[in-house]
Amino acid sequence: MKVTEHIQKAKGKTLVSFEVLPPLKGGSMQAIFKTLDALMEFKPPFIDVTYHREEFIYKKRPSGYYEKTAIRKRPGTVGICAAIMHRYGVDAVPHLICGGFTVEETENALIDLNFLGINNVLALRGDARQFEDKFIPEEEGHKYALDLVRQIAGMNHGKYLDLNIQNGEPTDFCIGVAGYPEKHFEAPNFAADLQFTKEKVEAGAGYIVTQMFFDNNKYFEYVNACRAAGIDVPIVPGLKPLTRKYQLNAIPRKFFINLPEEFVQEVQKAKDDEAVKQVGIEWCIAQSKALKAAGAPCLHYYTMGDTETVKKIAEAVA
Ligand code: FAD
Repeated sequence: MKVTEHIQKAKGKTLVSFEVLPPLKGGSMQAIFKTLDALMEFKPPFIDVTYHREEFIYKKRPSGYYEKTAIRKRPGTVGICAAIMHRYGVDAVPHLICGGFTVEETENALIDLNFLGINNVLALRGDARQFEDKFIPEEEGHKYALDLVRQIAGMNHGKYLDLNIQNGEPTDFCIGVAGYPEKHFEAPNFAADLQFTKEKVEAGAGYIVTQMFFDNNKYFEYVNACRAAGIDVPIVPGLKPLTRKYQLNAIPRKFFINLPEEFVQEVQKAKDDEAVKQVGIEWCIAQSKALKAAGAPCLHYYTMGDTETVKKIAEAVA
């Protein structure tokens, strides 16, 4: 079933869903099953699986020169999605990015997903690679998530890249896209970012998942701004609990978001790691309860490998 159908079927009840990362290369699928076995009691109708493109690393050679090597640390997104659907009978949402893909590779990836019966996709651009100061698309690849949405929507109309394909089998993907309550860091301003998000929806996206935020007002203001701009699809809040003190700086640096003053003070007051974690969990529970009370369509938790913490939050909110 499509994510949008799950949301419609819930008739205003707030759903719960989770996002998992593929294990590091060499790791086992059991790690994912262990995470999800513990979270299935919350009956998530869908599970997202992130996509990680190859990164460059530099290895020092005996000569002193550095060798640039490309490695993919977390492959397996599509296989994990298929395994999740098979084991739990819940829908899986693979993340698909522009970075590292030519348009033809994208088309082939979508054909694989379609043949596997996976008909949800979160369409993203991806970030710049380490050691690159901006996002660089493949020569024959997409520059923006909008272009990826257009390609998927085209396939939903039976449009393939090879123009000799007449009456191509239409796919039936439900397309999700990312939204940024605190603006995407590269966008010149909030209004411009909103306009680009609107274009993704007009091109065929059926719902939006937000970047994490720690101040619910940012989400509510974002939803209002989207509605005022004519974006009428469901907007799913993305939530991540802060669990370590260093994240007070690491989260804003990595995700370009602000942490509310009251929250920062609470974390700074905490005496040890355990106390910080407790503050983070309680904050996320309070956020979740308020979002649920306000009728958010779904609470989407970024697990980032920390099942125990996310489980405590989901239990308190259920
Ligand atoms: P876009 O929508 O393409 O926007 C990128 C920037 O370009 C924005 O500043 C936007 O304002 C601007 N822009 C958009 N269209 C235009 C246009 N036509 N002209 C000029 N400017 C334009 N990354 C991964 O690598 N793997 C993942 O699995 C992953 N999952 C994510 C899940 C969620 C819920 C979120 C919020 C992010 C995720 N990311 C992931 C990170 C994401 O790839 C980055 O945030 C990336 O920098 C932007 O992706 P996007 O799809 O929002 O890009």
